[in-house]
Amino acid sequence: MQTTLNFACDCGKMQGRIDRVTPQKIGHLTCYCKYCLGFPTHLGTGDKYIRDGGWVNLVQVAPDDVTIDQGSEHLACLKFTPKGPLRWYASCCGTPIANTLAGRMPPFASFYADTMGDADLGPVQLHSFCDHLPAAQRPQPSGNKAVRAFVLRFAKRVIPAILTLRFRKNPFFDAKGAPVATPQLLSKEQAQAAFPAR
Ligand SMILES: [Zn+2]
Ligand SMILES: [Zn+2]
Repeated sequence: MQTTLNFACDCGKMQGRIDRVTPQKIGHLTCYCKYCLGFPTHLGTGDKYIRDGGWVNLVQVAPDDVTIDQGSEHLACLKFTPKGPLRWYASCCGTPIANTLAGRMPPFASFYADTMGDADLGPVQLHSFCDHLPAAQRPQPSGNKAVRAFVLRFAKRVIPAILTLRFRKNPFFDAKGAPVATPQLLSKEQAQAAFPAR
């Protein structure tokens, strides 16, 4: 069965949707890494998007299923390192929208799931970058085996999008594969100020 996931920024100016969603086509994960947490902190919305325990709720989707219905003029992006992933946000209100790689290949976008209200994303498939926690406190599934299972599911989603050329439809990259907004590189000081204290 297919459903649509709707997302919106906090002020409502940006609205969009992810169509043709099935349980097989999404990757529900959490991330504990300093970048995924530092992003909303830098934007001033860490209180809303960082969960107790220091993680964010993400859902990987196919970019060709994503449509920004209104407010795409507010789409902006930043990065923590020169070649690092792009962190897309709604500049109207500082809502983190999604992470992508620096280029459009392989085609995926990891949305901040809290932009989707309480949409049903199914069970978490992977808790990533939680190695800093004592072993007994690491949520499951996590670790190498869970990563391998997640990557296999990822390949099954992404390879067909490449072979069928569906990857060319992507709201974050233009027809030539360039980002639709110029990525702003944070200074080292800005990044350090945003990273969680551990
Ligand atoms: Zn907004
Ligand atoms: Zn992360």
